[in-house]
Amino acid sequence: MQLVHLHSTGRLENMLGSSLCRILRRRPLKVTRCQVQEFTTSPQKIAISKVKEAGLLHSKALIGGKWLGANDGRTLPVHSPATGEVLVEVPYMGEVETNSAINEASKAFAGWRALTGSERSKLLRNWYDLLIANKEHLGHLITLEQGKPLTEALGEVVYGSNFVEFFAEEAKRIYGDIIPAPFSDRRIVVLKQPVGVVGAITPWNFPLAMITRKVAAAFAAGCTAVVKPSELTPLTALAAAELACQAGIPPGVLNVVMGDAPRIGDALMASNEVRKITFTGSTAVGKKLMAGAAGTVKKLSLELGGNAPCIIFDDADIDVAVKGTLASKFRNSGQTCVSVNRIFVQAGIYDKFSDAFATAVKSLEVGNGLHKGVAQGPLINEAAVEKVERHLEDALSKGAKVLLGGKKHSLGSTFYEPTVLTDTSTDMIIFREEVFGPVAPLIKFKTEEDVIQMANDTLFGLAAYFFTQNLSRAWRVAEALEFGMVGINEGIISTEVAPFGGVKQSGLGREGSKYGIDEYLEVKYLCMGSIKSF
Ligand code: NAP
Repeated sequence: MQLVHLHSTGRLENMLGSSLCRILRRRPLKVTRCQVQEFTTSPQKIAISKVKEAGLLHSKALIGGKWLGANDGRTLPVHSPATGEVLVEVPYMGEVETNSAINEASKAFAGWRALTGSERSKLLRNWYDLLIANKEHLGHLITLEQGKPLTEALGEVVYGSNFVEFFAEEAKRIYGDIIPAPFSDRRIVVLKQPVGVVGAITPWNFPLAMITRKVAAAFAAGCTAVVKPSELTPLTALAAAELACQAGIPPGVLNVVMGDAPRIGDALMASNEVRKITFTGSTAVGKKLMAGAAGTVKKLSLELGGNAPCIIFDDADIDVAVKGTLASKFRNSGQTCVSVNRIFVQAGIYDKFSDAFATAVKSLEVGNGLHKGVAQGPLINEAAVEKVERHLEDALSKGAKVLLGGKKHSLGSTFYEPTVLTDTSTDMIIFREEVFGPVAPLIKFKTEEDVIQMANDTLFGLAAYFFTQNLSRAWRVAEALEFGMVGINEGIISTEVAPFGGVKQSGLGREGSKYGIDEYLEVKYLCMGSIKSF
């Protein structure tokens, strides 16, 4: 098999400043000659030219309302995870460009915060309308750079846009308080004011929604932002930024930079102008940012990794349990922070559930997300597949058995077969860490007490799920699970109207809902004295 490397060594030089781990994540994909030939007529080419025609394919960063390259002209290729094709090159920026973006966000802050809630609301609503009007283009862009099936990508556009609509409404409802004072000549008033410039760092698995979930709330509150999307998926971020400009959001309110993540992160951390960092990504990077934020005592929200348990009790409705578990485990090929990672099945229902579940998993069609009928796209890159392989190897060496799948898919180096494991146990890596791939490990349990202990036996506490038809058990288990979000007879729980976030090492703060805006507001207390009575 002839191997073709899709980006030049010149491009690799761009990346030599980063750590080995980051270089590995960006390794060029190996593709076969037949895949290369397919590029000339591929759905990729057609999709990308449509996005380009719509003016949504940007290859520059947005700073102070201007589309700019890196100061030294360096660029970074963005690959399709399905084919390895280089979709476009984007600027590879660092500290200097980040400081310039912070400066622009800082200049724009005074004007943006001075608008009324209603004025900011109208601009956010314009942005929402444009995002929805461009749903098809954005959906294709997400599939192109991230790999998820188009139907899921279109779902992400709606989900991501809904945060903009929701916070457009919240912009008008930032209420303070009047507190009864302990002295008759005083009045106590509480104001809520925008924090200031926000640094937002986002991951690749939801290239649109992880940005809108942050900046829509920030903008509603009156903050301005410097966004750093993942280098793996910057194109959707740039398209969303283009639409924000078209919506009339003033220059400097939204800035998007990309490139050397540690350098960009360090610049955001070091700046006294940046008063808040909001991050979604791995717990390891989240911890670094938390330490970094101490230097300038910034406000911080962290949406980090998970290790979600999913419990199927004997009294569950099997069809509901299979549907919910399948949706939560295999959405985005298992690459979501709220993906089910450990499936506990009670002994009495174990055989019935595992048969029905394996049958449902078998029906998932794997392929390029742009193709009709595909339910499982590629993983983001080869490093992600290697992680899945390491988890599998460890589990099999400790006694797990493969019920379905269990290896790379014949489609290419970034595809992995939807997999079901049985006989998994608590000593396996897959029990301790999120696999972030399409592998569903089943664990048999006997009692409610045992399973709650096992489910909580993790350093993470983002999402948990369970299936039961017993109301008392539903309350008992929901209250006992040490997680920020619990799905009861439901596998898809994310929505703009509910507070999203975790406990333990899954993070700090909440996104979405009426609670989400508090992350971007400071509380100011006014004490008015010497008020004369009649
Ligand atoms: P990641 O490696 O932590 O990257 C997340 C973001 O941080 C990317 O933009 C990345 O940039 C940037 N970054 C990396 N190193 C940095 C540094 N030293 N300083 C500043 N920024 C840095 O995570 P990922 O692999 O993209 O995303 C997967 C993880 O995100 C999983 O653990 C998942 O559970 C978690 N996640 C959590 C939630 C939630 O709401 N709790 C939602 C989605 C995902 P580059 O990509 O450009 O290197």
